[in-house]
Amino acid sequence: MQIKISALSKVGSMLAFEEEIPVKEYPELAQVGEFHSPLTVRGTAVKTEDGFLVTGTLATSVILECSRCLEPFIYHIEADFVEEFVPQTSKNSRTGTGFSELAEEVSTYQGDYIDISELITESVLLDIPMKAVCRTDCRGICPDCGQALNETTCQCNPHKPDPRLAVLADLLKDQ
Ligand SMILES: [Zn+2]
Ligand SMILES: [Zn+2]
Repeated sequence: MQIKISALSKVGSMLAFEEEIPVKEYPELAQVGEFHSPLTVRGTAVKTEDGFLVTGTLATSVILECSRCLEPFIYHIEADFVEEFVPQTSKNSRTGTGFSELAEEVSTYQGDYIDISELITESVLLDIPMKAVCRTDCRGICPDCGQALNETTCQCNPHKPDPRLAVLADLLKDQ
């Protein structure tokens, strides 16, 4: 996604943007899973002394597999983003040497457009949990009989005296 910034010449001048983007335009995201809705991106670009400050929010939803019950569910993504963009020069090129640690937080642009595709991709990926659960009280699958405990209960003893599990349960309690 590109923001045309040629109209922003004075420091402090601002431009609002809003776009709905098909996820297929972001191949890195398409790898995560099947998206359930397009990416809705809205935000503002403000001219600063050094470049532009881009802030905004994005929303979409993706079909993930619950790490407990293994059922697919729709995970809603909503993320804020903020990034500073400065004009690309030979000095501050991301691949160049000698640029300070600022390179982590500052992106560059060339010409009349700021490309926020990478920013959008990162924001979406950061919002997706490693172990997604369909709901916080998902009961998962019984490790003994394999039944889906959201739909049924089983007769397995939930309080089996396994000392290893007791240690694990203590650890999880603190999280
Ligand atoms: Zn689940
Ligand atoms: Zn069971």
